[in-house]
Amino acid sequence: MSVSGKPPYDPANIFARILRGEIPCQRVDESEHALAFHDIAPQAPVHVLVIPKGDWVSAADFHAGASNAAIAGFWRLVAKVARDLGLEDRGYRLLSNMGEDAGQEVAHFHVHLFGGRRLGRMVP
Ligand code: IMP
Repeated sequence: MSVSGKPPYDPANIFARILRGEIPCQRVDESEHALAFHDIAPQAPVHVLVIPKGDWVSAADFHAGASNAAIAGFWRLVAKVARDLGLEDRGYRLLSNMGEDAGQEVAHFHVHLFGGRRLGRMVP
């Protein structure tokens, strides 16, 4: 943690590089506040990642530090992607790994959106 309480953000992380256009992604949708793209190693027929366009490491610092507009814009894009991909009727799952115990691999806040098949019970 920095003095301000915001954890240090590594601008070389892979999602930061995607946001800067340095490496490609399979874009699904985009808004002023967020970008949605297909996960490179999908775990379900639909596996989309949604990331905010800011230097936020995890759900904790994003929700503590981002503007209300950025937070609302982020979640609106999550809901729009689910709707546009036709997942609303059958349902879908949102998941965000935070920190070491959760196995967060990429240190840029992201939400996984899974759907397109009957998903198994969640296990810790
Ligand atoms: P985490 O474990 O919640 O941090 O998930 C990181 C996710 O990012 C994993 O599901 C990876 O498959 C995915 N991923 C890593 N690199 C890329 C990429 O370059 N494009 C799209 N997805 C990626």
